[in-house]
Formats: sequence, C-alpha cells, structure tokens
Amino acid sequence: MLFAQILLLLMCLASGSIAKHTATVKRTQWDQIAINACAKELESYKFDTDVKGRHASICTYEPALGSWLHCAKGVLDSKKKNKETFEKSFGRINQFCNDYHRKDGDVSNEEFYRIFSNASAFIRPIGEVKESVSCPVIPDKASLDRWVWAYFGPLDNLDKGNVYGITICLYWLGVLFIAAVYHLLNFSRLKQTVLRNRVSAFLRAHYVLPALIHNHAMSVGRWFFIGLVPTRLETLVLLGYVLLHGVLLSSYNFDRNELLSDHKSQVLIFLSDRAGILAFAHFPLIVLFGGKNSIMTWLTGIKYTAFITYHKWLGRFMLVDCAIHAIGYTYHAYIENYWKYVKYNDLWTSGRHAMIIVAVLVFFSFFFFRRHYYEFFVITHIILAIGFFYEAWRHCYKLGWGEWIIACALFWVADRILRLIKIIIFGIPLAKLKLHGESMIQVKIPKSSKWWRAEAGQYVYLYFLKPKMFWQSHPFTVMDSLVEDDMLVIVITMKNGLTKKLQEYLVQNEGHAEMRVLAEGPYGHSTRTYLFESMLFVAGGTGMPGPLSMAIKAGQELKNNDDYRTIKFVWSVRNLELLEVYKKEVMVLKELNVDVRIYYTGERKDELSVEEGTTANMNMQGRLLATPKTAETITDFGRPNIGELIEEAVSGANSLLIVCCGSEGFVDKTRELAAKKVLENGEKWIEYVEEFQNW
Ligand SMILES: Cc1cc2nc3c(=O)[nH]c(=O)nc-3n(C[C@H](O)[C@H](O)[C@H](O)COP(=O)(O)OP(=O)(O)OC[C@H]3O[C@@H](n4cnc5c(N)ncnc54)[C@H](O)[C@@H]3O)c2cc1C
Repeated sequence: MLFAQILLLLMCLASGSIAKHTATVKRTQWDQIAINACAKELESYKFDTDVKGRHASICTYEPALGSWLHCAKGVLDSKKKNKETFEKSFGRINQFCNDYHRKDGDVSNEEFYRIFSNASAFIRPIGEVKESVSCPVIPDKASLDRWVWAYFGPLDNLDKGNVYGITICLYWLGVLFIAAVYHLLNFSRLKQTVLRNRVSAFLRAHYVLPALIHNHAMSVGRWFFIGLVPTRLETLVLLGYVLLHGVLLSSYNFDRNELLSDHKSQVLIFLSDRAGILAFAHFPLIVLFGGKNSIMTWLTGIKYTAFITYHKWLGRFMLVDCAIHAIGYTYHAYIENYWKYVKYNDLWTSGRHAMIIVAVLVFFSFFFFRRHYYEFFVITHIILAIGFFYEAWRHCYKLGWGEWIIACALFWVADRILRLIKIIIFGIPLAKLKLHGESMIQVKIPKSSKWWRAEAGQYVYLYFLKPKMFWQSHPFTVMDSLVEDDMLVIVITMKNGLTKKLQEYLVQNEGHAEMRVLAEGPYGHSTRTYLFESMLFVAGGTGMPGPLSMAIKAGQELKNNDDYRTIKFVWSVRNLELLEVYKKEVMVLKELNVDVRIYYTGERKDELSVEEGTTANMNMQGRLLATPKTAETITDFGRPNIGELIEEAVSGANSLLIVCCGSEGFVDKTRELAAKKVLENGEKWIEYVEEFQNW
C-alpha cells in the first residue's frame, strides 16, 4: 500500500501536479502586512460612527476606509512596492470586509481609487484630531511601525527559513566545489608544486590527515556505545556546517512589544518553524550523500566513507531540527490550550508519525547495528526512510516545502537508475569460486562487456545469485587477473554473514563452485601514481588487493628512464593461505622491479625440519616456510616498522605516495605516521591514500 502510494507520488511528480500543490510560496506579502497593520492601528482610534461589528468602522465608514487605503499605500511606498501590490491590497480589504459587502459584492478597484483620492484631499495626521475622528487620518507612525513589525516577524521568519535552508545547501555545494577543484589538481603536478611548502605541510599534518581523536578506521567506545571518529578535515567541514546551522537557527526578529503574542509563544513558534524548514532543507543533502555517489566521488575525489560521515551528521542534525519543531509546537499547543483540537488532525498525526519514524531510523543506524547486523540496518534504513519521507510529505502537503522532498526523491531515483545501469552493463556472468584454506574465497569473474572497466583500487558490490544470498550486495575490491585476459579476480575473506554462507556452500561442494553474479560498480577512484617519484604501498593481511593492483599498475607505468623513481610494496601477513592466494601477483611485482617486502607476523616454525623429503608430512605453514620458493617470498619476520619505511621511501625523493589498506588498527597507525612524516618533510610532497573504508 505504502509502495503504491509512493509510486503514485512519483508519477504525480512527473506531471508536476503535486509540485504545484505543495510548492513553497513567499510568506512575506506586503499587501497583507500593510492591510493588517493599518487595520490594527486604525481600529484603535474612535471614528465618528455607531456601526457595530468586527472591522465595521474601517470597512463601512468612508473616512476610516480612506485612512486605511492611505495607510496601506504609505507602508507599501516605504517598502518600495509597486502599484500592483497596492491593488492586491484591495483584494485583502474585500476579504476583510466580506461580511459587509455580501449584498453588493466586492468593492471594485475604481471605487477604491475614488475613495483613496477623495481621502487624499482631506487627510490629516491623527495628532491634529482632538475628539472622535470624522475625517481621513494619517496614523501615528511609531505605533504603526510596531504593528508592521509584529506582522512582518512571523512571515519573515518562514521566508528566512527557506533562505537559510538554501544557505545550508550552498555551504555543502561550496564544500563539493572546493573538493572538485582540489581533486582536479590531482591530475597534474601543479598540486605538488604549489602546495609543497612548510605551511601546507603543517596544515595537512595537523588539520587534514589525522583522526580527530583516537582512530579513524577503528571504532571507539564499548559494546552498544561504539562509533567512528571522522578525520580532522571531515571534522572541520562538519564544524563549519554545525556553526552555520547554529547561527541560522538562532537569529530571529522578535516583536519585543508582544503585540500579537507573548515572547514565550514567539520563541516557540519562531524556533519551531525555523527548525522545521531547516529539517526539510536537509532532505536532499542526506539522500545525495547517502547514495552510492559514483559521479560525485569521480568529480570531487571525496570517498564514499566521507560522504557517509556527512550523511550521518546531517541526519543527526535533521533529527535535532525535527525534535525542536515537534516539541516546540506540542508545547505551544499545550500552553495555548489548542492541543485537544489539533492532536488528531492530519497535519499533527503525520508530523507525529514522521518524528517517531526518524527517531527509530537514527537509533537503528547506530554503529552497533551497522557492525553486527548490517543487512538488518540496510533494510530498516530504507523502509524507515521511505516511511519518513511519506509522512513528511503528508505533513507539508497543504503547507508548502514539498520541493525539498521532490528533490530528494529525484536524487534517490537517479542514484537507483545509475546503479541499475552499472549492473546491466556488467551483465550476469558465470563466476568461478574457489576456497583457499578455510576462510579465503577466490572469485574469478569473466568480463562480458567491453564497456566495463575498473581501475586499480576500485571496488564493486557483488550479488551472488543463489536463493539465500541474491538480495545482499557486498563491497569487494576488484583486480584484473594477471594470467587470464578479461578476467576479474576478487579475494574474499570470510566473516560471519554472507561470506560465511558462501564458505559453507563451497565446503559442501568440495571447495569449488560456479554461480551467476551481478556486480554493481566500479566505485572508488584510482590514484595518479605516475606523478610521484617514490611510492610506498603498504598492505596488512587481507587488505592486499587495493595496494597490490595499484602497485602493479605503477610498476607497469615505469619507463626505462625512470631510474629515479622507486616503488616499494610492503605486506604484513599472518596467514600463510593468503601468501598462497597472491603468489602469482607477488611474482609479477618482482618482475616489474618493485621492491617487495613481505613481513610474516604469524607463528614461526623454525624448529620444523627442512630436510629433503620431509616437507610432504608438514602442515601448510611448515611447508611454505620450508620450501625455497616461500623462503624467497617472505623477506622479514615480525611487524614492519612503518615509520622507518616511510622515512626510507621519502629520502632522496621530492614526492612520495603512500597507499595503505589493512586492518583498522593497521591503517590508523599508518595514517598517524604519515601525518607525522608530512610535518617532518615539509619541503617534500607526501600524499597519503587510504584504501580501507568503514561505514
Ligand atoms: C570498499 C571496500 C572494499 C572491500 N574489499 C574487500 C575485499 O577485497 N575482500 C574482502 O574480503 N573484503 C572486502 N571488504 C570487506 C567486505 O565488504 C566485508 O567483509 C563483507 O561485506 C562482509 O560480509 P558479511 O555478510 O560476511 O559480514 P558480517 O559478518 O555480517 O559483517 C562483517 C563486517 O562487514 C561489514 N559489512 C557487512 N556487510 C557490508 C556491506 N554490505 N557493506 C559494507 N560493510 C559491510 C559489517 O559492518 C561488519 O563490520 C571491503 C569493504 C569495503 C568497504
């Protein structure tokens, strides 16, 4: 039912009919403000008439009506409004005085002009009129201004909300623009030339690269209360947004004279309205940053994980805005005694539903759920998000601000279409799966489309088309096979969800299986390795594919006269099965003159006999360590000293690229050391690229 309604909504959007219905209109209508303020001021005077009823004197007593028109004209002139606005105020007067004109119909514009010019001939300032007023009067300016301000404030608050909402979007557009310009510099040596100085090194080492505190990749906290810490650059971007949001949420034109409502009510309504509008302005950004964003990553170089960081924080502040809006209005309804009249109407019910849904949505987005129940998180996230936007739509349907929802629906649909296109281009190839050891799965996928190309370090979302798995998609780094043309290779390390199911399936099938797969991607972007004199690729355990494929690419790019360029590949590995899986690639690296250093951090089996003929009786570990081939592959035992390796790599070079992927702790340490080395080597350009992503 809900889906049918959403479908209907999207269809209507296409025709533009809903867009018209729920469009945001400018609330500060000066004709209305002028008419209201003048009416209030003039009704405080005693006109020389006995007519009774609401607005009776200003509607029916011609000197009062003439004063009203004059007053409105004065207000509109002071705001530089044109004749058209003045004529619109005639319509407002007709609405105001509807009860008195019922018999004769609306007063025509000609008649209003006649009354206006007639009044002009006799009009006098109110200060000069002593007793009851029998001629057209110019109201007291100070008092009139107070009424104008009282009427202007709430309407202006709504319009300012729209402008401020757009301001928040512009802030993020600015961030994307700056990122795009910076990203553009990655395609030439300009960045290294312009930004290679101590000031930039200081800024990058202190304010860009490191995690805000503790770690970036590894979660902090305990049990349920765990989360990820953004980098300092991400924090600065978020800080700018939070400050801007705070300022935009706290500037109001209150009416200190409390002419229309007391200060408490004004605070409640102004704040609630502003927060509600700002919440809506977050919708498109949240959807945009939460999508797969291949185009935006390509344009700006911002990683998916950073987009997700922004998505999360925008979502949290949207929740705060929603809560302010909901609590503010509920409290106002309570103190002004209208709660019982509104609580079950559509506007309030949908608002309540939206608030509850978004609170549940944010709760189930906690890192605890993402880490332990990822699929549950994804499914609830999508369903609750659809529910939330549906209720938000119902909430604003008759009020306006629907454009924000339309924009986010369009972003969402565009993202889905783009993803679908990516999947279609890839096709449905038959992949070969092979189990290595107990927990390593090698997936070989033939490339069926010549349009599909992945660069080194990119990843795809893989769907395994088996009844129990097809609905899940998981990200894995892809590499071109070094032995078979048009073949992609993915190496999967078993975890506890889908990858475990895959492993179990392979165990049942003697370690081999074939199945159709879909791949959505490629995502992520490659680094321009040819711009660097020295390159250090650091991989920890299963984080091998990204640095490996980039190192191979860099090795292939090396030319004969590139003697001054060096490539070092460092792999810290504990699991010998992994060595087996990547044996060929490691050989290729060596053939490409890449300095390969493999650090074995697992248990040493020195005591194992290596005498001829005895290897057959050894376990895998023993055999690998004992055979000459493997002894050649492993260059060091124990953990690599990353700091020293960076120092070594940067000495004698003007620029160094560090690419790292591995366990969370491993990449965090490398990031920290890279930042330190950036600071110490201010006269050189050191770039740190982290292939690991966590969200
Ligand atoms: C850009 C990127 C590239 C990756 N490349 C590789 C690779 O080449 N080889 C490899 O073995 N692993 C890779 N991973 C990790 C891999 O995606 C997860 O190990 C896999 O999704 C776990 O699936 P599961 O259901 O068995 O996990 P679970 O046991 O359910 O969860 C294990 C961990 O994986 C995370 N996770 C689960 N599903 C997803 C998902 N759909 N998207 C993101 N994170 C998820 C969970 O938050 C949890 O922290 C990569 C991850 C990313 C983000």
